[in-house]
Amino acid sequence: MANRAPTFSTQRIIFLAVSLLLSIQVGWWINVQIRESGRLLQARAEALNASRAEAWQLDSLGMLAFIHGRPDPSSRSGAVEGRFATLPSLEQRREAIHRRFPHVLVVTTPSTPDDIALLDGAAFLALRPEPMLELRNQRWHSVFRVATEGAFMVAAVLFGFVMIYRKLSEELDLKLRQRNFTSAVTHELKTPIASLRVWTETLFTRTLADEQRERIRSLMEKDLDRLNELVGNLLDVARAESGSLVLHLEPLELEPWLRGVCDAMDHRLGAGALGLRLDFTTEPLWVNADPKALGVVVENLLSNAYKYAAEPRQTTVTLDGDGEDVLLVVSDLGHGLAHKDLPRVFHRFFRVGDEMTRQVAGTGLGLFLVKEITTRHGGEVRASSRGAGLGSAFTVRLPRIPRPEDA
Ligand code: ADP
Repeated sequence: MANRAPTFSTQRIIFLAVSLLLSIQVGWWINVQIRESGRLLQARAEALNASRAEAWQLDSLGMLAFIHGRPDPSSRSGAVEGRFATLPSLEQRREAIHRRFPHVLVVTTPSTPDDIALLDGAAFLALRPEPMLELRNQRWHSVFRVATEGAFMVAAVLFGFVMIYRKLSEELDLKLRQRNFTSAVTHELKTPIASLRVWTETLFTRTLADEQRERIRSLMEKDLDRLNELVGNLLDVARAESGSLVLHLEPLELEPWLRGVCDAMDHRLGAGALGLRLDFTTEPLWVNADPKALGVVVENLLSNAYKYAAEPRQTTVTLDGDGEDVLLVVSDLGHGLAHKDLPRVFHRFFRVGDEMTRQVAGTGLGLFLVKEITTRHGGEVRASSRGAGLGSAFTVRLPRIPRPEDA
């Protein structure tokens, strides 16, 4: 048990480190992808700008050819007056540009500072907005796609890690509990056996007064009860795990039966030691149950109320109907349970605290068995507590059946 904390924290550190590395890696990948798509957008924008510059060049060269060149005499398109040919109209130039550079527009007023004035200042060359808008849209799409893919990747891998981590933690936890269980069982077996040996030797080697014999007999009975309970629990757990825990269900009226189990337990633990108070409804409540198995449930809950409370104990057993169900509650004013331990107390071998802090002997099987048996009866069990030191309550809910005579 001593190596429990470091093992779990090492696991946590590895898990956090891997998650961090993964997130950095994916963040870096997203960044690279976004930069790449930015570069692509820039390259395309430059290509468009270059086509506009080329258009300007084409138009300017054409103009210069008209100004300085000798027009073909056979051509009827432009007569020569002095040194100048008749210039082509703006419409003709626009058509010529548009044919070669479909993304370049000839406009009379510039819409952006980048628009270039034609050589004669008659118009300006602008770029069509659609290709740039399309490029920008494409870029945002690719950024969005990369970001969602990255987020999905991180989520998927982290989910996998969480699953592995949980599985490993569970296995580790079970191993540690199992190791703890072995030493607890050894201790639980050895203590009453050692004590029985001492009492047997005392009985056979000494002359004792009747009163002393009687006291030793009741102590031996307690040891035998302890052994009997432990062996019974071990056998039941083994049966529950192998699926061979057979229940003999029969209609059972809870009130008289429960009163009997509580009285027997009170007697076994020492009359009045539980500080038992029974709070039963007067309404007859019937369930379909195996009295012996259900007895194990109540005995384990009462035994815990005894073990995990200091004197003077106050244990209350409540029996009441709740719609279609019956509620059986065993509550005490003992050590109580921390919120995080409430669902874990039903795990096999689970015991609160560690070897250093535990003062009460036990195996961590009692509540596991309580849950197994209750579930097999079609019911459920829940632990509640107002916190450590404030007592706890165990609520067993069983499906109610009508009184056999009324059925
Ligand atoms: P065991 O009593 O043999 O240890 P259980 O399965 O009966 O095993 O109980 C598991 C753990 O739950 C106990 O070790 C104890 O820490 C806690 N527990 C059970 N019942 C109570 C109770 N009434 N009050 C406080 N803690 C309890």
